[in-house]
Amino acid sequence: MRTKIVAGNWKMNKNAQETRLLLNDLIETLPHTVEAQIIVAPTFVNLAAATQFVEHTNIVVAAQNMHHAEHGAYTGEISADMLQSIGVNTVILGHSERRAYFGETDAQLALKVTTALAHHMQVIFCFGEELKDRQNNQHFEVVSHQLHKGLFHIPADAWENIILAYEPVWAIGTGETASPEQAQEMHEFIRATIRKHYGDAVAESVSILYGGSVKPDNALEIFSKPDVDGGLIGGAALKASDFVAIVNGMN
Ligand code: 13P
Repeated sequence: MRTKIVAGNWKMNKNAQETRLLLNDLIETLPHTVEAQIIVAPTFVNLAAATQFVEHTNIVVAAQNMHHAEHGAYTGEISADMLQSIGVNTVILGHSERRAYFGETDAQLALKVTTALAHHMQVIFCFGEELKDRQNNQHFEVVSHQLHKGLFHIPADAWENIILAYEPVWAIGTGETASPEQAQEMHEFIRATIRKHYGDAVAESVSILYGGSVKPDNALEIFSKPDVDGGLIGGAALKASDFVAIVNGMN
């Protein structure tokens, strides 16, 4: 059985007080027995407080990014060791906003993945096509390329620390969701691509999340698809009632 996961990417939202408030609301309202693994990714400055806040709960705290180098002259950057020193062992890498606004390339992401895995961190690896790719019917090719260049250098046994997040760029923050059928079609393709490269065991065990305008009213249908193992939630993760409703949809 693959792990079901609901992850909230808070992006550049929530200051220190707001982070505490949202975590508090989540802790109070999340069901005690959830089938899914719950992950939240606040901003860097609130990670230390967040890890302490969720101690003794089933919520995992993730970072939204990290640098590939161990340390050094990289002003403004954060290393794997720094994250782990405050109890953060999960990191989102390759989010489309990092790729689009901060110029992160597949090659840089491959380095980041290698570093995270060397630290035995869990990686949520994001990828997905842009609208023009889908219009040109190149979405499968683009996704395959992103996987090959950013991720397929890792050995088969490293996959136990990988979570995939397919996030079509045209569906992020736009209110436009991939239809459950479009999500399933792509997730099936992703799993088949992994199967080709790594074999059945890896393909069947990796969790593939869908991200892009997931809301309480569409989550259930998307998550019901056989190759969709959960979601990476942006906007709807910023309100406890919405996030909890999405988690409940998983149960
Ligand atoms: P939205 O849910 O706001 O579309 O964001 C999705 C996302 O980018 C999660 O990483």
